[in-house]
Amino acid sequence: MKSTPAATTLTTCAYCGVGCGVSMQPQGDAFSASGIKNHPANLGRLCVKGSALGETLDLQGRLLQPEIDRQPVSWAQALDAVAERLRAIISEYGPQAVAFYGSGQLLTEDYYVANKLMKGFIGAGNMDTNSRLCMASAVVGYKRAFGADAVPCRYQDLEQADCVLLTGSNTAWAHPVVYQRLAQAKKDRPEMRIIVIDPRQTATCDIADMHLALRPGSDAALFCGVLNAMAKCGRLDSDFLQQHTLGAAETLRAASEWTLARTAEFCGLAEEQLRDFYRLIGGSERLVTLYSMGINQSSSGVDKCNAIINLHLATGQIGREGCGPFSITGQPNAMGGREVGGLANQLACHMGFTPEDISRVGRFWGSDSVSQSAGLNAVDLFRAVEEGRIKAVWIMGTNPLVSLPDADRVRAGLARCPLVIVSDIMRDTDTTRAAHICLPALGWGEKNGTVTNSERCISRQRAFLPAPGEAKPDWWILSQVAQRLGFADAFAWQHPAEIFREHAALSGFENHGSRAFDISGLAQLSNAEWDGLQPIQWPVNAANPQGTARLFTDKRFYHPDGKARLIAVTPRLPLNAPSGAYPLVMNTGRVRDQWHTMTRTGKSARLMQHLSEPFCQFHPDDAPQIRTGDLLRVSSSHGWLLLRAQPDPLQPRGSVFVPMHWNSNFSQQARVDALIEAHVDPLSGQPESKHMPVSLRRW
Ligand code: SF4
Repeated sequence: MKSTPAATTLTTCAYCGVGCGVSMQPQGDAFSASGIKNHPANLGRLCVKGSALGETLDLQGRLLQPEIDRQPVSWAQALDAVAERLRAIISEYGPQAVAFYGSGQLLTEDYYVANKLMKGFIGAGNMDTNSRLCMASAVVGYKRAFGADAVPCRYQDLEQADCVLLTGSNTAWAHPVVYQRLAQAKKDRPEMRIIVIDPRQTATCDIADMHLALRPGSDAALFCGVLNAMAKCGRLDSDFLQQHTLGAAETLRAASEWTLARTAEFCGLAEEQLRDFYRLIGGSERLVTLYSMGINQSSSGVDKCNAIINLHLATGQIGREGCGPFSITGQPNAMGGREVGGLANQLACHMGFTPEDISRVGRFWGSDSVSQSAGLNAVDLFRAVEEGRIKAVWIMGTNPLVSLPDADRVRAGLARCPLVIVSDIMRDTDTTRAAHICLPALGWGEKNGTVTNSERCISRQRAFLPAPGEAKPDWWILSQVAQRLGFADAFAWQHPAEIFREHAALSGFENHGSRAFDISGLAQLSNAEWDGLQPIQWPVNAANPQGTARLFTDKRFYHPDGKARLIAVTPRLPLNAPSGAYPLVMNTGRVRDQWHTMTRTGKSARLMQHLSEPFCQFHPDDAPQIRTGDLLRVSSSHGWLLLRAQPDPLQPRGSVFVPMHWNSNFSQQARVDALIEAHVDPLSGQPESKHMPVSLRRW
């Protein structure tokens, strides 16, 4: 990208995993946002949330001073208190009694420090993140298939495909700039086919040639069915399967049970429509499948991911232009968290808890206290808080009392926890109200570091605002606590570029091509070069100094034998089925103009105009007595919500939709996750957030 006048700052959007480049221009006391034309993620585009970034920068409601028991204190008092109380708990109960819970809103440098402190020096694996709720299933799916958590594609592949499957993704609202790029590609090449696979008819269907409104949760069967159909019509790439994969025979045998009739019945689709779908897939040479929370947030999310990947491997549609299974993440830096090891089952830089990796990371960090085992994932971590096994939890940049399933139980658990520390930008959230110690963090526009988007592109988030009040960068707060815990040498950074260099060096440490994540080519950046870093896709190393646009072009994967794995999948429906008391199934998701629990986007009057209050959409036949605008009580076995009724004939019968955003500051009784049971995928630990039986009644 070319340089711009000093007054303009080039940065990366605060919100979704598309990771758009944003130019912030001062206009008097305010800032306006525009898309950066040569940023590879957005090519100048922004969605309405991104274009409203300048409207969310005020300091109203900010946490601007450290607090203990809601009383302001100095930084020295707060940091001393955190360190002393952590030390006391570790010394009495051991390191396993302490946990960190991070966020895809953290910058990579912040994430790295948190992970290093917990797993490398406190010596427990209990660092997990809200990314567990977002794409943990995609991570395991990639690792099973490729031997590494490696997203094969780039956004351009979507534009170069013959056929794009959008599954479990309302792309138009959740990843709007990707949708805009697809819509333009469809306009330029009308012969390109776009197929939406979703129980709901969403705004994404506006550009689709076909919408498969399948039964909620039946996705794996659909992909087994299409694999079987491709095998039957000779559409498999036998050479690719033979030379570059293992597991094809068992997988095809398992898929062969998914005949047209059985698949149609299981998925609730007409055989004729399914036949048309198979015809489109069979006629495509370049297929991209874009998938998101509708696939991942499931008790069988990993199998769904592998059913998708199987199709790509079996037809050889991977590692080529316009091809590949493409998981898109929710948050701006969910990928950065995966890279540093922010999930509890990872150690650091794509290394796990094998004896070799523990030794390697310990030698690099100069620590003999590295955790010997994985920690607790998000749901188990907060269950351990409730049960008193975790005595201290530090929550950073996230609001789990709104966003975790069974949220009321999480709140009750935190109320009993001896030490709750929260680093946040806002003073009054559902979660800060449960904290003993609150630490004011810098927000977007104030902090300085890197993020990685869904196409593995590392991009800079740059500060253009002064630090407000006494707010500090997360990496600084964590380092100060680490120093007080006696780890001064390992946490002595003065600048985030120093942390990035260490992270980059660790990614290449004893990495002989065995680990996908390798940015050792960036380990020597000076502070000025780090500051000016241009967007670049990993791996970035001696072999790929300019980065890597697309993975697996050489058909070599990261399993030791270089071969990918097809995984035989047995499709399963969601765990909770509707019943007499709760006859409808609740699906949850995003609305176009809000972000997560609304602590930032809720500040913009323009964004609030789109959908200003929490609502419930349902088919009119499911509750004919309830009219548009009625107040509605939505109940599950776990609780109830008070929402505005929106009967909608486009909503599938038997299923309701409720947005995930509203927190208690906006609406006392609209925290949707309070209704959701914490069933998780056994392999990924990701909760089933899109299939909860509920009932409706007028208030
Ligand atoms: Fe920001 Fe996502 Fe919109 Fe891009 S698509 S401007 S990253 S919210």
